Amino acid sequence: MTVVHVASEIAPIAKVGGLGDVVYGLARATAQEGHSVEVWLPNYDQIPTTELDHLERRTDHLWKASLHGVNLVLVDLPKYFHRGKIYGFHDDVDRFAHFSKAVVDALASQSHPPDVIHIHDWQTALIAPLVRTLKWNKTKIILTIHSLEHQGRALPHQIAFTGIDPSIMIDPRKSTDINLLMGGILCANTVVTVSPTYLNEILTPKKGQGLDVFLEQHRSKMHGILNGIDYSYWDPAKDPHLICPYTPSTLAGKAENKSHLRRRFGLREDDSPLIASVTRLVPQKAPELIEKGLHYTLKNGGQFILLGSSPIEEIGDHFANLKTKLEGPHAAFFLEYDEPLSHLVYAGADMLLVPSHFEPCGLTQMIALRYGAIPIVRATGGLKDSVIDYDDAGQPREKRSGFTFEAPDGDGVEGALGRALKVYKEKPDEWKQLILHGMNQDFSWKHSAQEYLKLYTYCYGTAIEIKDSNFGIIF
Ligand code: ADP
Repeated sequence: MTVVHVASEIAPIAKVGGLGDVVYGLARATAQEGHSVEVWLPNYDQIPTTELDHLERRTDHLWKASLHGVNLVLVDLPKYFHRGKIYGFHDDVDRFAHFSKAVVDALASQSHPPDVIHIHDWQTALIAPLVRTLKWNKTKIILTIHSLEHQGRALPHQIAFTGIDPSIMIDPRKSTDINLLMGGILCANTVVTVSPTYLNEILTPKKGQGLDVFLEQHRSKMHGILNGIDYSYWDPAKDPHLICPYTPSTLAGKAENKSHLRRRFGLREDDSPLIASVTRLVPQKAPELIEKGLHYTLKNGGQFILLGSSPIEEIGDHFANLKTKLEGPHAAFFLEYDEPLSHLVYAGADMLLVPSHFEPCGLTQMIALRYGAIPIVRATGGLKDSVIDYDDAGQPREKRSGFTFEAPDGDGVEGALGRALKVYKEKPDEWKQLILHGMNQDFSWKHSAQEYLKLYTYCYGTAIEIKDSNFGIIF
């Protein structure tokens, strides 16, 4: 099968968040199954070409290269993508609309259409209506929604150059706006959310970000597939960033990493548990609940380490103030993005707190499980699908791997943290079992890639057909 991903990110060379990890992990896992997989993305000026192999021109505007065995096609659009960062410009919609058009034009000039075109989030959603105009009846279009928070809202004239009728994607909240993600959902054969629970959530008015009614109309072609994580990259037995590698049978190595982390940050070495958060500090991640958890931990004899950066000045300043007030033998703050340090934090921490208001999938809780740090998470989205509560009597013991809470408030966080601290202190044997249960679970891409491959093979969801790009659509 020939699969073309079109995306705005790929880890590690052009990554802002989980989207980049997913494109990389899924492309690698499906290529390893013997499929011919390419990832098309803008030729950003900040891509470190030293990380690429076999970089060469394919045509005037396209480059091809290989990234750890993944075939890349880089599309040259310097006016829009030589800007030093991936997102955050007033013309982001125009940038990605031009990218989408350039990709479809290039695909159309190839001798064979791919079997599958897999697009990701609003940035590449316009590909779906554009491909429909080509009448490639055998090509399936899959759209993965990594987050519904951003939908690519714009004015109709901004896509006039593509020839797509903007009336197919009028935003339900403001009839003068169009919504690129809606265009993608309409025209894709299949729409996937990055966890089953997130799919159920976005069909409700509370979490549907204005699209719940629209999404309900397309429910029959929607699926939820939990993301995986890259098990060769996130592997405590081989991780070069750790001071001491470890496995479920050599857990003493984990203690070495905890000691090292404490020494590095001036935390006291005693028998207290070390709780961590590794996160972007943005409203979605509930920074106010992270702060509550931090205070509760310190009051109850634990230590806390926060590895978090914020693109929002007010939140960043707030945590910088907290650092000044609280940093000491029990609390450490590192308020930047630091990939190598994150590995050491997962390895050294006893628990990882993830109290998000919403979480389409979330990767940090899965990494924590793999590194034997017990996740304490709000029961939402992918967090709910990947962490089963220690006290959930309806589940077999070996499946229970953390502590969860429902209410997005101080009581919720403190209730779950309180239960975790009690087991840590009073039942060390059960704590160790919990660590082993988590480490022995499988959140690699193996299962999720199989689910995607099934959709690639069997999906025949109804997509609208575009009768003529200038004269509207037939439903
Ligand atoms: P999102 O994509 O919404 O930020 P995810 O949980 O899906 O959240 O993915 C977050 C990824 O970014 C994880 O790999 C996590 O380890 C990493 N990360 C988040 N903040 C930091 C940080 N300050 N330093 C290093 N890595 C971080």
